[in-house]
Amino acid sequence: MIFDKDGTLVDQQTWDRVTGSLLDHLFPDVETREAASRAIEYDLDSRSISPGAAILAESNDQWIDRLAPFDPDGDKPAFGERVESTIAELIRTNVCALDGADELLGHLASTDVLIALATNDSEASARNQVALLGWQQHFDAIVGYDSGHGAKPAPGMLLALLEHFHVRPADALMVGDTWADQHAAEAAGIPFALVQHGNLSEIQEDVVG
Ligand SMILES: [Mg+2]
Repeated sequence: MIFDKDGTLVDQQTWDRVTGSLLDHLFPDVETREAASRAIEYDLDSRSISPGAAILAESNDQWIDRLAPFDPDGDKPAFGERVESTIAELIRTNVCALDGADELLGHLASTDVLIALATNDSEASARNQVALLGWQQHFDAIVGYDSGHGAKPAPGMLLALLEHFHVRPADALMVGDTWADQHAAEAAGIPFALVQHGNLSEIQEDVVG
């Protein structure tokens, strides 16, 4: 069973808080912060990522690309490293699990089902969050956008996991909350289960309707 992370096991409120603090840190100038917020569809008033925002499904490097033009230093590699290190610091005090995720992972760990995480976050960040949540014993594999298999919606991560575990697509299940998860699963030939939060009503209609 392959899980997406954010919005599937990790509460999206984690990223509402981390993204807000990240923007405060990166862009102390108010006008620049407001412009950067619009570029990633983050609402500074409600301190939350807007429903349906592209960054909910994008890999870290994609939304770093959206923020980089607002960096006054103009050094994109250095900016990207600063973003990742700031997130790693902010995550320590903000990461929280979705209701029921602890129980579900604990239950699955008592079975012989193989459990993997496939996220568009970086692998290091994902491993950090899994450790903070006490889930490291539950996962047989963790891959991120930078693990060498590409990012969702391309199927590379999922195909690499199937190969690693010697599992056929039809015998696996992908669980996620965005169109990127759904498309990656379909491209890999893996059945897909949608976690519904109202983030992406269009795929809910596709899947449920
Ligand atoms: Mg997600």
